[in-house]
Amino acid sequence: MSEFPLSKARVDFPLLTNRVRGKNLVYLDSAASGLKPWPVIERVGHFLTYQTSNVHRGAHFLSDQATVAYEQARQKVAEFIHAPSPSSVIFTRGTTESINLVAQAWGRANLKKGDVILLTEMEHHSNIVPWQMIAKEIGAEVRALPVKPNGDLDLSRADDFFTPNVKMVAVTHASNTLGTINDVALLAQKAHAVGALILVDGAQMIANHPVDVQKLDVDFYAFSGHKIFGPYGIGVLYGKKDVLDAMGPYQGGGSMISEVAFAGTTYHDVPFRFEAGTPNIEGAVGLATALEYVQKLGWPAIEAHEKALLDLATQKLSEIPEVELVGTSANKVAILSFNLKGAHPSDVGQIMDQENVAVRAGHHCTQPLMKVLGITGTVRASFSVFNSAADVEQLVKAVIKAKEMLL
Ligand SMILES: *Cc1c(COP(=O)(O)O)cnc(C)c1O
Repeated sequence: MSEFPLSKARVDFPLLTNRVRGKNLVYLDSAASGLKPWPVIERVGHFLTYQTSNVHRGAHFLSDQATVAYEQARQKVAEFIHAPSPSSVIFTRGTTESINLVAQAWGRANLKKGDVILLTEMEHHSNIVPWQMIAKEIGAEVRALPVKPNGDLDLSRADDFFTPNVKMVAVTHASNTLGTINDVALLAQKAHAVGALILVDGAQMIANHPVDVQKLDVDFYAFSGHKIFGPYGIGVLYGKKDVLDAMGPYQGGGSMISEVAFAGTTYHDVPFRFEAGTPNIEGAVGLATALEYVQKLGWPAIEAHEKALLDLATQKLSEIPEVELVGTSANKVAILSFNLKGAHPSDVGQIMDQENVAVRAGHHCTQPLMKVLGITGTVRASFSVFNSAADVEQLVKAVIKAKEMLL
């Protein structure tokens, strides 16, 4: 295998053949949103053109076809994350809604005053705020496992945190700011040992490495379609079947019921109980096509390609003395956060943008982590299957330009 095995994937992404402001676009913001490859664009277009119809309702051909496509998408997701059955897969709007669903539907029924929800200091706001909301309502407490200066989770005092009053452990699989990959299997063992459940925020992991929810032995796993080359407004919540079966509904409405009467309503089986109203059908079928696209590229090639890009960019940026890398764990997804000593990250990002290098600058929805690290933000470059060594070269040039202008 060559050092960059996916050097031909670029042609699959039409946005990259578009010139932005007369120049080629260097897209290094896949951690915020993945670009969409042709097969996904065509699948969504095909659905809207030839298959538009509601699911689980109509008595006609198109509706049957839409229902089959939607349920096949569920099956594809189950296969992709190695869920034991499609009935463990709930379609949501994204990671954020998946976590809110658990915080509300599971949290309200299972948490009581004095219980602890254990997070980490590196969580995205969407794996913090939903827990704060339910904790405040119930009188539960939110605590966070500390992060070491290099960006690894600090488990040296784990016993102080994994106590019997912990009822939920909610952790990110990979940090969107630091890139750190957490040992989720170990955290699941620790959670279960004190009788807690574990929810994993897979938003960053899902497009970078294979995920096996059974091997990890997690109770919930959440991710968003748009971060794995799929459409916006579609996401997934996986849950262990027995845990989901014991949960009441999240939102009420059509499709989630068994029978409705003014005297009382009974609810549908899992997963339909958690999918009130008309779902994002073209989102689900587009997501299935995105997962097929990833399977076609293959994990060994994706992993090797992204590692080569991350290693090259890390090495090249380390050679610039004014660059401070943020997050240097040995086990990372292809995310490289950094600062230019003495410059504000948003100024750096703006100058890089003028060079057509699209990065993200700011707190990346991880303000508590910024506080722990004593910084206001970082510049973040994130790499994907369509990036190349030439993109890394452009990144380095843009950083040097920012350095010359700002320092
Ligand atoms: C992007 C992201 C989220 C939020 O995903 P949405 O698609 O906005 O719901 C949550 N956690 C992490 C780690 C993320 O990167």
